[in-house]
Amino acid sequence: MADEVNPFESLQEQVDDAAAHVDVDPGVIERLKHPERVLETNLAVEMDDGALEVFHAYRSQFNGVRGPYKGGIRYHPQVTRDEVKALSGWMAVKCAVADIPYGGGKGGIEVDPDAYSASELERITRSFATELQPFVGEDRDIPAPDVNTGQREMNWIKDTYETLENTTEPGVVTGKAVESGGSEGRVEATGRSVMLTAREAFDALGKDIEGATVAVQGYGNVGSIAARLLEDIGARVVAVSDSSGAPYDPEGLDARAAKRTKDETGNVVDLDSPQTLTNDELLTLDVDLLVPAALENAIDETLAHEVSADIVVEGANGPLTPEADGVLTGQNVHVFPDVLANAGGVTVSYFEWVQNRQRFYWSEQRVNDELETVIVDAFDALREVFEERDVPNRRVAAYVLAIERIARSAEASGVWP
Ligand code: NAD
Repeated sequence: MADEVNPFESLQEQVDDAAAHVDVDPGVIERLKHPERVLETNLAVEMDDGALEVFHAYRSQFNGVRGPYKGGIRYHPQVTRDEVKALSGWMAVKCAVADIPYGGGKGGIEVDPDAYSASELERITRSFATELQPFVGEDRDIPAPDVNTGQREMNWIKDTYETLENTTEPGVVTGKAVESGGSEGRVEATGRSVMLTAREAFDALGKDIEGATVAVQGYGNVGSIAARLLEDIGARVVAVSDSSGAPYDPEGLDARAAKRTKDETGNVVDLDSPQTLTNDELLTLDVDLLVPAALENAIDETLAHEVSADIVVEGANGPLTPEADGVLTGQNVHVFPDVLANAGGVTVSYFEWVQNRQRFYWSEQRVNDELETVIVDAFDALREVFEERDVPNRRVAAYVLAIERIARSAEASGVWP
C-alpha cells in the first residue's frame, strides 16, 4: 500500500499539519512546500560493450536559507522526481531539527546498480558528477551516500569535481572513507543518535532504560549499531530481525553475537536463540522500546493497531505510514521521529565537512561527544515544543520546530516577508 503514497504529497501534508501550530506567514509555508529548484538530467553513458545507455537523474535543492543544501544520492530503479523532492524536504526538516547550518537536498539516478559493472557505475557516477558540478560545492550543495551508494561513489564524485575545478575540495561530499577525508565516528553515528534519543526518551518519561526490553527491526548499519549501544547502556535486546527473520529470547540476546552471525552467514536468523519470530511478530512484541531500522513504511495502519511497545524510536526514515502514525498517536505510544532519532548521520557528515574545511581532524571521542551535544539539544528543543504547544505528537512538534527555525532564518536575512 505504502508504495502508492506519493512521498511529495506526504511531505506537503506534514508541512500543512505543522503550519496549523505556528505563527508563520502563509506565503512562507507555501514556499516550504516546494523545493527551490530541481535539476533533471539525462546521462548518456557508454557501456562495457560500447552501447550508449541513457539514465534519468535528479538533484533537488529544497531550501538554502540556513546554509548549503545537504543530502544523499541514491541509485535505485524506482527513483522519481517526486521522491527526490520529498526526500530533500525531509532533509531540510532534519537539519533544522538538529540545528546544523544546512538546507535540504537529495539526488538520485534511476538505475539498478546490480545490473552494471563497477566500471559502468563509475562512468555513470562521473557523468552525474559532471552535470552536478555547477550546482554543488562545499558552500553550495554537499551530496552524501544514500540507498546503494557509499564511500566509493563519493570518492568518484569528489575526484570528478576536483578535476573539473582544478582544486582540492574534500568538503564537496561527505560520507567519504577516513583515508579520503572522512570522519571518525561516521559509520556509527546514526545508530548512536538512535541510542541517545532512546536514552533521553526514557529519562524524559521517567522510565529506566536499564533492563528495558528492546526489539530492533533491521540489522544493517543503523539497527545493529543501535542494538549494541543500547545494550551497552543496560537495555535488554530481546529480538532483532533482518529480511531472513527474527531471533527472539525474552531473557535477552547478545547484540554483538547477532552482528557476527549476520556478517558470517548473511542472515541474523542463524543466531542461536530459543525462538524465531516473523518480522510482523517482532514489530508487535510487547516490549518497552521498538526500533524500526529497516525500510520506510514498515508499519502500516493494520499493523499499527497491534503494536504493543510503549516507545518507538525511528531509526529508519519514514518507517510508519501516515495512517500508522495516527493510530499510534491514538494509542498513546510515544513515537520519537526519524528527523530527530536518525539525525546522527547528517550531524557527523556536518562534522566531516567542518574538519575538511579546517583541514584538521578530530578524534572519535570528540566526534561522539559533539554528536551527543547536538542530539541532546535537539531532543530538549523538541520536547519543549511538544510540552508547551497543543500538538498531537512529537512528529508534528519536530516540523513546528523546523519550520520556525527556517522561517526565522529567512526573516533575518530579509529574503522573505
Ligand atoms: P542497511 O542496508 O545497512 O540495513 C537495512 C537492514 O534492513 C538490513 O539488515 C536488511 O536485511 C533489513 N531489512 C530489509 N527488509 C527488511 C524487512 N522487511 N524486515 C526486517 N529487516 C529488513 O541500511 P541502513 O543504513 O541501516 O539504513 C536503514 C534505514 O535507516 C533506512 O531507512 C535508511 O534510509 C535510514 N537511515 C540510515 C542512515 C545511515 O547513516 N546509514 C542515516 C539516516 C537514515
